[in-house]
Amino acid sequence: MIPIIIAIDGYSSTGKSTLAKALAKILGYTYVDTGAMYRAVSLHALRSGYIKGEGIDVASLVSDLESIEISFVLGENSTSVVCLNAEEVESEIRGMEVSSCVSRISAIPQVRSFLVAQQQLMGVKKALVMDGRDIGSVVFPEAELKLFMTASEDIRAQRRYDELLAKGDEVDFESVKSNIIERDHRDTHREMAPLIQTKDALVLDNSCLSPQEQLDWVLEKVRLITSI
Ligand code: C5P
Repeated sequence: MIPIIIAIDGYSSTGKSTLAKALAKILGYTYVDTGAMYRAVSLHALRSGYIKGEGIDVASLVSDLESIEISFVLGENSTSVVCLNAEEVESEIRGMEVSSCVSRISAIPQVRSFLVAQQQLMGVKKALVMDGRDIGSVVFPEAELKLFMTASEDIRAQRRYDELLAKGDEVDFESVKSNIIERDHRDTHREMAPLIQTKDALVLDNSCLSPQEQLDWVLEKVRLITSI
């Protein structure tokens, strides 16, 4: 089977990473969660005091970018977890504090260039499943398979809410839902690399599909492409 790049983009909490992880496992591919990279930079910005309310000290963050090292290591159950300067921060980056500022951080062009360069290096040997917002449009416009994932707002909010509750976070449904709506708005309206559905992407609305149904559907597409 020839190795390919699978680019998965879509709205917040559409289950991109669940599908991407399962695909990578079955195909023996590397999985990269680019949202975790933007979240790690956001956590760094928060910890460094660059975010004050609605304002961001962009100049300080940009001049500090080269000191940020993001890596992925295998955590419990052999799942990949993100590290910020060698510290495992997986749980911290998923909380509401980071979720509330990540879309403002990801709209900064220098942050995007810094991370996109690293993401492109990860695809040199192909055999990669990468999920995010600009993978099929900017990071790997030549990806052999592009998916665009979507689902109803309520279903997505419920998924994220359940995820946070299971983690032990104290959250209320309405703020989780409004965070998702706000992030989608910022992500689709920013100037640089907004979330778009590219013409060659296959749309996967998983509002009513189980994880297994989604996986079977995508594996069929992968088989068609790799057996040519
Ligand atoms: O995928 P996740 O919801 O963890 O992504 C968090 C945020 O990171 C998104 O809302 C978006 O602002 C940003 N992001 C991005 N480009 C990517 C991946 C994520 O701008 N490729």
